[in-house]
Amino acid sequence: MDSHNFLKGENIMYCPDTLERMHEKLHQERVQALESGQEEVTCDYCGNKADHIIPVYNPADALREVEGIYCEVNICEKCEDKGYLYEEYFICDECGEWFILNHSWDSLVVNLNGSQYCHKCALNHLPTYTIQEVLDSLSNGETNLFNRINVPDSANLVWEGEFSQYSDFPGHTSFDSLIRSIKDKCEEDDISLETQVYSVVSHTYQFSVCLSIFSV
Ligand SMILES: [Zn+2]
Ligand SMILES: [Zn+2]
Repeated sequence: MDSHNFLKGENIMYCPDTLERMHEKLHQERVQALESGQEEVTCDYCGNKADHIIPVYNPADALREVEGIYCEVNICEKCEDKGYLYEEYFICDECGEWFILNHSWDSLVVNLNGSQYCHKCALNHLPTYTIQEVLDSLSNGETNLFNRINVPDSANLVWEGEFSQYSDFPGHTSFDSLIRSIKDKCEEDDISLETQVYSVVSHTYQFSVCLSIFSV
C-alpha cells in the first residue's frame, strides 16, 4: 500500500519553498515597462523578444495567507500558442489565474469533476460525505474520497492523522488503524457518523500523507 495512493498517481517532485513572494506592484511595474517599450524582455523558452510577463501563483498560498506572485514567466506569443505554459502551470477554472502544478512532494492542482482549481476555489466545489461514507470507503481499501487540498484556517476539524506505507512509521500504517482512530475520535467528541464532512489530504511528505476530516 503506497501512501501516495491518496494522490491518485500524480507526478511529484522536490524543490524547497522559501515562501518568498513577489509583490503585485513590482510585477505591474515590469509589465508597464515591457508594454511601453522601456524595457526589452526575452522569452524564457526561445530567447526572442517576449510579448507578455505572466504572473504565476502557488495554489496553496491563499489558504495559508501567503500573498504575492510565486514566479513570473516571460513569454512570446509564438511559444504561448505552442502551449509551453501548460507543461509546468495550470489555469484555475474558477478564478482564471495561472498556478504552478507541483511543489515539493506536493501535487498542487485540485482535480474535481473534470475541472482544475486552486485550493481556494476548490473549496466551492469540494464534495461532502458523511463520516460513515468515508469509513465505508476506507474499509473497502479506497482512497478516492480524499482530495488534496490545504485545510483553511477556519475549518472545524473533526479528525486528523498521518498515514504511511512504512511499517516502522510512528503514525497510521493501515486503513484499519485509520478507521479505528476516526471512530474513537467521533465517540470521544460525541460526533454523529452521519455528520457531513470534507475528507482531504492536507499535506504530503516524502514518505507519508496528512489526512484531515473537517465538518461542512
Ligand atoms: Zn518564445
Ligand atoms: Zn482559483
